[in-house]
Amino acid sequence: MLRANRKRRIVLKSKQEIELMRQAGNIVAQALDEIRRNTRPGVTTGEMNDIAEDVLRRHNATPVFKGYPNHRTGGSPFPAAITACVNEELVHGIPSYDKVLQEGDIFSIDCGAYFKGWVGDAATTVPVGKISEDAQRLLEVTEQALYKGIAQGRLGNRTEDISATVQEFVEQYGYSVVREYTGHGVGQNMHEGTQVPNFGKHGRGARLKKGMTIALEPMVNVGTWETRLLDDGWTVITADGKLSAHFEHSFVITDGEPDILTLL
Ligand code: MG
Ligand code: MG
Repeated sequence: MLRANRKRRIVLKSKQEIELMRQAGNIVAQALDEIRRNTRPGVTTGEMNDIAEDVLRRHNATPVFKGYPNHRTGGSPFPAAITACVNEELVHGIPSYDKVLQEGDIFSIDCGAYFKGWVGDAATTVPVGKISEDAQRLLEVTEQALYKGIAQGRLGNRTEDISATVQEFVEQYGYSVVREYTGHGVGQNMHEGTQVPNFGKHGRGARLKKGMTIALEPMVNVGTWETRLLDDGWTVITADGKLSAHFEHSFVITDGEPDILTLL
């Protein structure tokens, strides 16, 4: 999602706050898992959104994306609980009952939930039926890039150590990382504190501190990193029409290993 505000303040979370964020994150993980298990040729992205809304409602959570203002165009707010992207679409796709998933597609789902005042934010890309080896490799590299980046989330590092690690890992496969959309601090708002891009230079950015909570979200393109906004004012696609994948977790910096908050 585009940034809601430009607040740069980094809020360190207490142990109790982190546990609430973990509950929010777990609800998002369940929604994504339920969608993954129901994704097959013939289903629509609108139906997949209904699944997410249902999971959130059952857990007394509310969608973060639904009603989210369009800061970029000033147009209609986002109408759904998930953003649903197919193939060359990389973020902010609007779910629709007219959009039928086809064998061989890749399907990216981003979901945010508020629970007891805290946000969970995660994304995944799943295969629809049998996909090409090239598409499969893109999914694997993007997911691995996410975990390589998170592994840099430790005391002594800065935010761009995470960014640079994602970029280096992705580019060795000949893929590119999207520049205009980035990871971010997360907490009581979906975007708080600093941005965490998927590209950068080691040793730059904010110093990591215990209790910092970050949503890291590599968006990896097979071709150019450049993107284009569709006329609906939301859906972003790759400028060259080649495939893009998206994986995201929210996690917290500890005095040891980074702790992922959006796991099942
Ligand atoms: Mg997200
Ligand atoms: Mg995010």
